Amino acid sequence: MLEHDVIIIGGGLAGSRAALEVARKAPHLNIALVAKTHPIRSHSVAAQGGIAASLKNVDPADDWRAHAFDTVKGSDYLADQDAVEILTQEAPEVIIDLEHMGVLFSRLPDGRIAQRAFGGHSHNRTCYAADKTGHAILHELVNNLRRYGVRIYDEWYVMRLILEEEQAKGIVMYHVHDGHLEVVRAKAVMFATGGYGRAFNTTSNDFASTGDGLAMAALAGIPLQDMEFVQFHPTGLYPVGVLISEAVRGEGAYLINSQGDRFMANYAPSRMELAPRDITSRAITLEIRAGRGIHPDGRVGGPFIYLDLRHLGREKIMSRIPFCWEEAHRLVGIDAAEHPMPVRPTVHYSMGGIPTNVEGQVIISSALAGNFQFDPSDPISPQDNLVDGLFAAGEAACVSVHGANRLGSNSLLECVVYGRRTGAAIAQFVQGRKLPEVNEQSYLQEARNQIQALLGRSGGLRIQQVRQDFQDVMTSHCGVFRTEAIMQSGLDKIHQLQEQYQQIYLDDRGTLWNTEIIEALELRSLMIVGQMILTSALNRRESRGAHSREDFSQRDDPNFLKHTLAYYSPAGIDLSYRPVKITCFQPQERKY
Ligand SMILES: Cc1cc2nc3c(=O)[nH]c(=O)nc-3n(C[C@H](O)[C@H](O)[C@H](O)COP(=O)(O)OP(=O)(O)OC[C@H]3O[C@@H](n4cnc5c(N)ncnc54)[C@H](O)[C@@H]3O)c2cc1C
Repeated sequence: MLEHDVIIIGGGLAGSRAALEVARKAPHLNIALVAKTHPIRSHSVAAQGGIAASLKNVDPADDWRAHAFDTVKGSDYLADQDAVEILTQEAPEVIIDLEHMGVLFSRLPDGRIAQRAFGGHSHNRTCYAADKTGHAILHELVNNLRRYGVRIYDEWYVMRLILEEEQAKGIVMYHVHDGHLEVVRAKAVMFATGGYGRAFNTTSNDFASTGDGLAMAALAGIPLQDMEFVQFHPTGLYPVGVLISEAVRGEGAYLINSQGDRFMANYAPSRMELAPRDITSRAITLEIRAGRGIHPDGRVGGPFIYLDLRHLGREKIMSRIPFCWEEAHRLVGIDAAEHPMPVRPTVHYSMGGIPTNVEGQVIISSALAGNFQFDPSDPISPQDNLVDGLFAAGEAACVSVHGANRLGSNSLLECVVYGRRTGAAIAQFVQGRKLPEVNEQSYLQEARNQIQALLGRSGGLRIQQVRQDFQDVMTSHCGVFRTEAIMQSGLDKIHQLQEQYQQIYLDDRGTLWNTEIIEALELRSLMIVGQMILTSALNRRESRGAHSREDFSQRDDPNFLKHTLAYYSPAGIDLSYRPVKITCFQPQERKY
């Protein structure tokens, strides 16, 4: 059995930043990081537009309070405000720290870090490295892990969290190269496994964003919080769905419909193209529904609208957003300096996840959980029960700084601020603790049985086929707009697909680089996550942030200003609710 003081699952921004902080705070600890990809191929590397912080380099009137207010308003008042205060107060110092590590941010003419406009932010506060910000940050972080001697297990797939009596004791992992299984015991376990965009058929996310960490936590009895809030990014390139960064609109691009109108004037007149993502995605969907979309052959009434950069000029496009130009050129053959880009909303980000406190420790239940009513004159604070030795940060976690809708450039920030805090909390937590007792053989045997069961199946269904059907169900039954009937029928179809999963057939029965086994395990994760999303969404009978119900079109604070906690069991999903932490901003109507 392998042993480490600390085991971190996920090599993206959150996991890498946490590992670095443990190593800085407690250099004597034996720290390991596991990733099913190579760490620098984590989805964080694809982040484009930037990372928010009120550095005041461009806009001296900015400060952390303005950033906090924008974030809470953007969240449709569902964010926990204590967590938002920490996020926005610590933002400037984490950026300076990244710069000291060597991250190459884009500059102002006087040499200070440049900052651009972003949706929902009232000041120009998004720091960036052209439109390759994630790449610039992740490479430096991973370099630093090597410098600090963090042990990296790359291309190991973590299959299971070992959790006994509400204490995390380790993990079980599978080596993608040769099928070797290992149990790892540790004093602290951290999940930084990213999002689940692959649950949908059109997404900006990479192939590895399959919600494994969420599914493993759920299978171990940990609730998932606010899973109904799925972010649709307004500008996915049609038809592929890959992201065209919000930085493009931050630099001044327009959204236009088939009539050539800048239609955002009808939906968010004060913010136009820089309204928050939930509002912009709904506006695009409504324009397309109203027949003001465009067809690939130029006819009106089609499935996309245009993102128009032409007025920016080639020079600005090539210096500020060269990667977005290149994507459109490479994938759909468009020169964006000459022609508008075809775009429509694409699944992008998970606001929900594994609930944690502001030190990154995982919450298993709340003493005040239940079906309470929100009272603005007497808001209650959550009293949470924590899991011993289990931590989470980044997109897999829900601390919750994004509430019902995340603002662009706040996610990289969350990964770095909460990655750092969680790393510091872990370094503190493991002091003086012993390695837990783990029955290695029984966990190995269970994992072997699980793999054998997959290899031994004689059904007639291909993984790809079941996955495609599942992604189609999620896309058509849990989209930008939702209703009870549509979601209920989606949930019924997922139950049928879960039965079909028992009949999938693997062509490859070997152990060397058997990527079909990984795909089968990932599909299981996706289906668990999909069921959690739909069940949570069905029970939130209001519209808030990214969760927009045609049958309950208003926000309903008395009944739903609370976090959903969804508990998985094979028999079905149990829901409970947890209070939202309100410190300085009372809920108001959200208008832009
Ligand atoms: C195209 C794109 C552009 C974006 N641009 C921006 C932006 O400009 N600004 C911004 O703030 N946000 C942006 N975001 C969002 C942001 O990039 C992500 O939310 C953030 O990077 C997530 O980081 P993470 O560390 O939580 O997870 P990830 O970077 O997704 O890393 C997850 C890690 O977990 C590992 N893992 C997962 N499952 C397993 C398993 N079973 N076993 C072992 N390892 C596992 C993976 O291998 C990987 O190393 C963007 C997102 C996308 C998709």
